[in-house]
Amino acid sequence: MAERNNVQVTPVQIEEQRSWMAQVRDMKERPRTYHIVTYGCQMNAHDSEKLAGMLEEMGLQPAEAREEADFVLFNTCCVRDNAERRALGNVTWLKEVRKQRPNLMIGVCGCMVQEPGMAEKLMKQYRFVDLAFGTSNLYRFPELFARAIEQRRPLVDVEEEDSIAEGLPVRRLRRDAAYLTIMYGCDNFCSYCIVPYVRGRERSRRMEDILREAQGLKDSGVKEIMLLGQNVNSYGKGSGTDFPTLLREIDALGIERIRFMTSHPKDLSDELIQAMADCRHVLPQFHLPVQSGNNEILRQMNRQYTREVYLNRVRSLREAVPGIGLSTDIIVGYPGETEAQFEDTLSLVDEVGYDSAFTFIYSPRTGTRAAGLPGQIPGEISTARIQRLIALQEKRQRERMARFMDQTERVLVEGLSKRSDRQVSGKGEHGISITFTGDETDIGQIVSVRITGQKNNTLLGERIQLA
Ligand code: SF4
Repeated sequence: MAERNNVQVTPVQIEEQRSWMAQVRDMKERPRTYHIVTYGCQMNAHDSEKLAGMLEEMGLQPAEAREEADFVLFNTCCVRDNAERRALGNVTWLKEVRKQRPNLMIGVCGCMVQEPGMAEKLMKQYRFVDLAFGTSNLYRFPELFARAIEQRRPLVDVEEEDSIAEGLPVRRLRRDAAYLTIMYGCDNFCSYCIVPYVRGRERSRRMEDILREAQGLKDSGVKEIMLLGQNVNSYGKGSGTDFPTLLREIDALGIERIRFMTSHPKDLSDELIQAMADCRHVLPQFHLPVQSGNNEILRQMNRQYTREVYLNRVRSLREAVPGIGLSTDIIVGYPGETEAQFEDTLSLVDEVGYDSAFTFIYSPRTGTRAAGLPGQIPGEISTARIQRLIALQEKRQRERMARFMDQTERVLVEGLSKRSDRQVSGKGEHGISITFTGDETDIGQIVSVRITGQKNNTLLGERIQLA
């Protein structure tokens, strides 16, 4: 892979993109509506908010359904094979829609496009795609979009620069809660993971830019921010600052609720744990991916911690922040994983007692070290293992949730419950979904709720008035 450059996009370059936005807005023949289909993680969801912001600046309106839009953009993920296949399947389906609507424009962007060989594949096998671009040049979307409209033949643009762009328009999905990216990329090269290849090397935004954005969010009424990065714990590395310092600075702004993700266990310092305990607005919730409970598998995964170190970090977190909500990511069926090694994962899950866990069957990604390893685990074995893991996690989760009975949680209401329009739901401080009686007027409000029961992964409660 070619050497990548780390580039801070200049204000002049952002101005150039603004003038491309104005040019598109003035075009007579251009798409009027857009729909973005987003796959993958919160980073991608936030990228889609930036893309939507730029599209609206270019005069396009959002369309509810992709079939109705003049421009459909697929913001893709390539972390697992099925996410990639789903995205390509949906892109192909749209080719049929275009037979009825020849002016429909189709775009593909995000991690999948940045994957080695994917740009060529799109050009050869998906020639009906009008525009494809990666993650590094997202800030140049207005220019690429303008060119794609003008030239009316496929345009593919993938760069190898690891850019940081400030000052792009953003159309946020929620008014009460917002994503705030603090860093991009990853240097860890876990053996199974394609992210460092498609998102580039770690690079942190300047603290003053982050604080300005956080202050702006607070001023606009945002109650909760989620700080984002592939490995937030290494924020500022090599630049004289660090994540605990940033967390304390953001906390001092007085935003009501602050969360962050994702944290690599090897970089979880005592200073960060202390900052969590000290910061009034940082919520008692921590996502700490473990991936496996077996030391040999962790070594092969290049995770750079042991089971013992991980458990020690969990203990420290629980001592500093009693009752903290803990969640994790776990991969089963890593190449060569034996039954005994898998059982180490089960025993770790039992010992920790997570409030939630995202469990995955290992998915080989071309170009990563693990993809070429012998001992790939047959699907039926991985499936049986993940079922055992999920059953154990669900049991532990139910037991953990019992600690909230009769306790008060403050819930930021996200919307009406899926089951009833006389109920609302949102997340409590510990990151667990809570449902209670309410209506649309509660959406975006923080409500105190006494927990009265639990159903599946959700806590049930009733609103209370605090004295
Ligand atoms: S820390 Fe590991 S799993 Fe997470 S993004 Fe980086 S390489 Fe991937």
